[in-house]
Amino acid sequence: MQSPQSIKSIQAGLLDGSLKMETRVDNHLASIKKSEDLNIYIEVFEEEIRKAAEELQEKINTHPDKLGKLFGVVFSIKDVLCYKDHKVTAASKILDGFESQFTATAIQRILDEDGLIIGRTNCDEFAMGSSNENSVYGACKNGHGDNRVPGGSSGGAAVSVQMHTCDVALGTDTGGSVRQPAAFCGVVGMKPTYGRISRYGLIAYASSFDQLGLLGHHTEDIATVLEVVSGKDSFDATSSNTPVDKYADLQAIENKKFAYFNEVVNHPKLNENIKSSTFDLFGKLKEKGHTVDDVEFEYLDYLVPTYYVLTTAEASSNLSRYDGVRYGHRSKEIKSFNDFYHKTRTEGFGLEVKRRIMLGTFVLSSGYYDAYYSKAQKVRNKISKAITKMLEEYDYIIMPTTTDIAWEIGAFDKDPVSVYLSDVFTVLANLCGLPAVSVPLGKDANGHSYGIQLISSKYNEAKLLNAAFSFQNIT
Ligand code: GLN
Repeated sequence: MQSPQSIKSIQAGLLDGSLKMETRVDNHLASIKKSEDLNIYIEVFEEEIRKAAEELQEKINTHPDKLGKLFGVVFSIKDVLCYKDHKVTAASKILDGFESQFTATAIQRILDEDGLIIGRTNCDEFAMGSSNENSVYGACKNGHGDNRVPGGSSGGAAVSVQMHTCDVALGTDTGGSVRQPAAFCGVVGMKPTYGRISRYGLIAYASSFDQLGLLGHHTEDIATVLEVVSGKDSFDATSSNTPVDKYADLQAIENKKFAYFNEVVNHPKLNENIKSSTFDLFGKLKEKGHTVDDVEFEYLDYLVPTYYVLTTAEASSNLSRYDGVRYGHRSKEIKSFNDFYHKTRTEGFGLEVKRRIMLGTFVLSSGYYDAYYSKAQKVRNKISKAITKMLEEYDYIIMPTTTDIAWEIGAFDKDPVSVYLSDVFTVLANLCGLPAVSVPLGKDANGHSYGIQLISSKYNEAKLLNAAFSFQNIT
């Protein structure tokens, strides 16, 4: 298995000849073979990446001055991102056989800077889930090795980094899907501000929450890639033209103010190891001269309900396009017009997706719209205002990424509500559109990883990455 080299050292090695692109790709492909039982990849672009590696090595040899910023970096892409002439299914039967007609902006920017794509990673169907168990391809497993979930929905993305099958993974985060699997797999996961990275070419789950995110071994690598993929895109009206900072110029943080919530660090479901590591970290931060304050936040109990009312509403609308007319699966049992939709969607969608379409349709229905959808919008607004105000006074909000370590596969099969509730620490950033990062915090006695999460104000990714970078040395 390759040691997790940083992008900087990979590129230095490629330039001085101590590393060869073909060997790098061979090693990554070998790691994929070795970890086949984990079900990380839905498709590996083996031939294609070998060819790309050969061409890139040629460019390194002949035109080193023309190399892009991400030359030599190998990426995996979550199976909700479109890549022209490649299949994409959102891990759903309903998109069986569908091929992308265009390339997601983030992927295009990576390719334009000489990055390479190794394959499509497993995930929860339409990014709905926290464990990667809701995939038509079957669960992806945590590389830790004792039949545990990798987290979700970007489970495959996290394990693809954990098992060294790529350098950086592209995932998506609607309510924690990058940060939570990163925490469960012991890697760094970042979700930038809503609108920082174009969503063009990302299959929508809940459009006002969805954001692309990055997973890697090193904060430096995430910063380097973020600089490339961020910025305005004329194909996505919600992408921001706020200038992209030089994220990769990472600085150690000094004299910062951290806010935490007492109800979070004393949450009844919080794992004891996570709790004690969190308090240890608070102690270390104070020793280094930072302020760590307990701050009042009255909306904690409203986060998960607000998130699930709004995201299911958006999902029910977004997923109405999958009807078997234009793309993907179409039932063969059609005898009437109604059968067409009914059977196609019944056969094509999995249980969790159906549950959310039902829930979303209910909260949007005329009789309940005011009671649920409209009220949840108001609560979202209140939460957002309270947090924005807090972040005027504090540099960061700090809390564990998850309440617990990765659970055993199947443990919550009959209890979806407990899984929803487990998202309590991650949905806040998406409700407010804020950037957030999860950094490895520790491991329990059995080696199960957990993470610490930081949230900062909008477009303050540089500040967030500086803290994540400093934390990697502290934790
Ligand atoms: N676990 C959350 C959900 O199921 C988050 C998913 C995501 O971020 N895509 O909605």
